[in-house]
Amino acid sequence: MLGAVALAVLMVVMVDRVYGHSTLAFAAAIVMLIFVNAPILGFNCPRCGKNAFFRGIFVIPWPNRICTRCGEDLDRVLPKNAGG
Ligand SMILES: [Zn+2]
Repeated sequence: MLGAVALAVLMVVMVDRVYGHSTLAFAAAIVMLIFVNAPILGFNCPRCGKNAFFRGIFVIPWPNRICTRCGEDLDRVLPKNAGG
């Protein structure tokens, strides 16, 4: 996700330099970020529904191993390579 954000910013900067306006690139970057974030926002706790990527008000690009709200073990419902 952080790589995607950097890529999106880089893309906006590159197109902005080439074409002088970045409206289209900015829109494309937003769409891309939504597309990249969609699966992340789908990783919710099976017991209480809390998103595994939220720690308080912060969104972290890797999920919690244990739900911060109800303590459910999310390691078995999330991909093995997703946990820290
Ligand atoms: Zn939970």
